[in-house]
Amino acid sequence: MAHDVVLIPGDGIGPEITQAMRRVVDATGVEIAWQVVDAGAGVMKEYGTPLPRHVLDAVAKTGVAIKGPVTTPVGTGFRSVNVALRQAFDLYACVRPCVTLPGATSRYQDIDLVIVRENTEDLYAGIEFEPGSFEADRLARLLERNGGRSFRPGSAISIKPISPEGSRRIVTYAFEYARSMGRNKVTAVHKANIMKATDGLFLRVAREVAASYPEIAFEDKIVDATCMGLVMDPHDFDVLVLPNLYGDIVSDLCAGLVGGLGMAPGANIGEECAVFEATHGSAPDIAGKDIANPTAEILSAAMMLDHLDEHEAARRIRDAVSATLSEGEQVTADVRRSLTGSTEGAVGTQAYADAVIAHMA
Ligand code: NAD
Repeated sequence: MAHDVVLIPGDGIGPEITQAMRRVVDATGVEIAWQVVDAGAGVMKEYGTPLPRHVLDAVAKTGVAIKGPVTTPVGTGFRSVNVALRQAFDLYACVRPCVTLPGATSRYQDIDLVIVRENTEDLYAGIEFEPGSFEADRLARLLERNGGRSFRPGSAISIKPISPEGSRRIVTYAFEYARSMGRNKVTAVHKANIMKATDGLFLRVAREVAASYPEIAFEDKIVDATCMGLVMDPHDFDVLVLPNLYGDIVSDLCAGLVGGLGMAPGANIGEECAVFEATHGSAPDIAGKDIANPTAEILSAAMMLDHLDEHEAARRIRDAVSATLSEGEQVTADVRRSLTGSTEGAVGTQAYADAVIAHMA
């Protein structure tokens, strides 16, 4: 029986890379009933929201979706569709494997680490107050009365909630992931020396959870030291578990360690639903040019196939991507540049997908 999967192409490079991904997945022979629905700025006019009800209903029904990136206006405009989707389905665990692929040149070889990012709390919870707003003013006065703390006039305020329950489930997820994947160490990343209340809670819970997994090594590291450690020696790390904001930033850092954003896949996992997507954004600077690298999106689809218990198809996709990249002939401009210093000889997004499909035959 076919698997029902919602496909949200997104915008920017989203439609191009999801088209490439879909062709590769279809070439495995696994039957997928794709249900294509749109979200983002393009649907605002028709539905008055970037994330219409029928999109949420479709994802709720299938329980599995894969999406392209969706542009979020910076500073003003609607809130992120990506964050809203994660919150709507309580997709609390963002899993981002960062693995050096053969043929992908980067500063290091043989990197194999996994970011487990909390997806629903922290400064991304969306509790924000505009500068000069009635609410910001009232909150400032309340804090002044209760805590004796004052803000400069006109301050904008964002609130960072971190709960015991949210921390416990993400750290438990990281340890369960490490156990099931045969990994040896979990590093909890925080800034508890400064944010003693929020990150202090995250760290305390992480230590408690770690005690239930004596067979897996545990360490904690301050986020700035983690960034330096990752750049100095990424092989020191295995599974990293982080609150939302640090997880977002460190994910991109780790993508940079394995050849760039075009190489880093991801999954957002909840109890009822899972939404797969690359780590990168909509890359408006290269959209519509058939030059985007669809590898991250294709590898996100491989993660989706594993989730659907289609392990053989997932393996075939990973092998075909590795073989295509190792040959280094039919690769996109970003990979070509890192291999040869020039984009000459690079192929387009769809031609690269053709090469991956040919390697699966
Ligand atoms: P970005 O990830 O879109 O791009 C950063 C750089 O990496 C750009 O130079 C881009 O050309 C390059 N790049 C990204 N993906 C690539 C690929 N597959 N192949 C080759 N090069 C690639 O980050 P940004 O420019 O900061 O964000 C653009 C928009 O995407 C913003 O509106 C942001 O909010 C949104 N965004 C969406 C998601 C998501 O949908 N999950 C994630 C991150 C950012």
